[in-house]
Amino acid sequence: MTARILVVDDVLPNLQLLEAKLRAEFYEVDLAANGPDALAKAQAWAPDVILLDVMMPDMDGFEVCRRLKADPATAHLPVVMVTALTEQHERVRGLEAGADDFLSKPVDDAALFARLRALLRVKQVQDAWRQQAAIARQLGFEARMPLDDGLRHSSAVLVAADPTEGAALARTLRAEGMTVELAADPEAGRAALQARPHDAALLCLGGVAEADTLRFASRLRAEGVTRDLPVLLIGDPSQREALLRGLDIGASDHVLRPVDPNELLARVRNQIRRKRYQDQLQTGIDRSLELAVTDPLTGLRNRRYFLRHLDGLLAEEGAAVMMIDIDRFKRINDSAGHAAGDAALRGVADRLRHRLRAADVIARYGGEEFIVALRAAAPDYALSVAERLRAGMAAEPISLGAQMLPITISIGLAMAPAGGSAEQAIAAADAALYRAKGSGRNRVELARPEDFARRPGGDAI
Ligand code: GH3
Ligand code: MG
Ligand code: MG
Repeated sequence: MTARILVVDDVLPNLQLLEAKLRAEFYEVDLAANGPDALAKAQAWAPDVILLDVMMPDMDGFEVCRRLKADPATAHLPVVMVTALTEQHERVRGLEAGADDFLSKPVDDAALFARLRALLRVKQVQDAWRQQAAIARQLGFEARMPLDDGLRHSSAVLVAADPTEGAALARTLRAEGMTVELAADPEAGRAALQARPHDAALLCLGGVAEADTLRFASRLRAEGVTRDLPVLLIGDPSQREALLRGLDIGASDHVLRPVDPNELLARVRNQIRRKRYQDQLQTGIDRSLELAVTDPLTGLRNRRYFLRHLDGLLAEEGAAVMMIDIDRFKRINDSAGHAAGDAALRGVADRLRHRLRAADVIARYGGEEFIVALRAAAPDYALSVAERLRAGMAAEPISLGAQMLPITISIGLAMAPAGGSAEQAIAAADAALYRAKGSGRNRVELARPEDFARRPGGDAI
């Protein structure tokens, strides 16, 4: 995968060195020699990852990282701090500023590329979602980097073969408000992750074979419920190869032993923040899709959805189509007011929905018209359903506050053959409905063969 890497460093030879390494691996590279330049290029060039030097005059890397993470336009960009500082607390400072990782100068190639691949993989998934979320945004759902709630209200499964290590790590995380479930081996961990949703998995290398833990990490990535779950590995410096390999097959990050509690917390916090952001994108997408097919007044499917649905249905099998219209609805509006009319529409919608099977689709077709598709229904069955809907409505008035409103409906029923057109079936149901109205209302009429020969919305052909 080719990707854009923005390299930030105030020392030209450092820039050139990293640029050469990255280009040799076919990455696109742009360079920035100071903080303000980096912020501008992060906005304008939309890099996929930023490699950020810490020590720079005027604005240092920590400050650049904080500003990137504070701006909604750049907050999602992965940042790797590149530092000559070996002080542990300086590294943790970088993580706390929102960096995804740090690399020591001189930069080790294996570590650099393993880290880049892992970050790019996550970003690729997020970009796909961000694209979809653009639609959600048009409908008013803005996904923001969630407020940093730390580890409160978060939960993790921690797989540790060594109970002493497990207990110590759990204590650190719980002190920050995280709920931690301990598991002694990957199988138990998997069971815990399947049983209920968690925000992260932490896997300690050791006890079981390294390969088993890595296989477990990659399995989590492959399975539906845990596909987007942050996975952190914990291992010894001597297990470096396994840890880097872990990044390639699905782990999100790792922490080296002896585990510095602050580093652990900073890394887990960053993963949780990223997960929360992904969850928000997903929710926005789900809600916008939901909105696009839902009638806002009644919560039923809308006409657009129904037409698609019926098209798909008829391509495979026959269906019964019911056009349902409330009788004399205008009078309700006129006597009780428009708001009461709306409430009555909701009441009718609820009642119809509850009298249908889950596999039947009901939609609001227009003002006070509803439409139903019963899949693969025989005429007798469809007629009995229609009759049940009609009689049920007539038997029981809709309650509007203290008021009881008698409401009846008329129904036109068309038996649409497999392979037929949805529009024609709807036109036939409409013609039958028209007859039901003409013959006194509160009736069910079955469409006749000639009703199918009508042009939708027009005269007989
Ligand atoms: P018929 O038995 O012939 O169907 O008589 P009707 O009064 O139901 O039919 P008509 O089509 O003349 O009137 C439908 C009325 O439904 C007119 C319109 O004000 C009302 N209506 C349509 N949509 C809504 C809505 O969303 N809310 C409310 N309150 N009324 C609506
Ligand atoms: Mg009506
Ligand atoms: Mg009408």
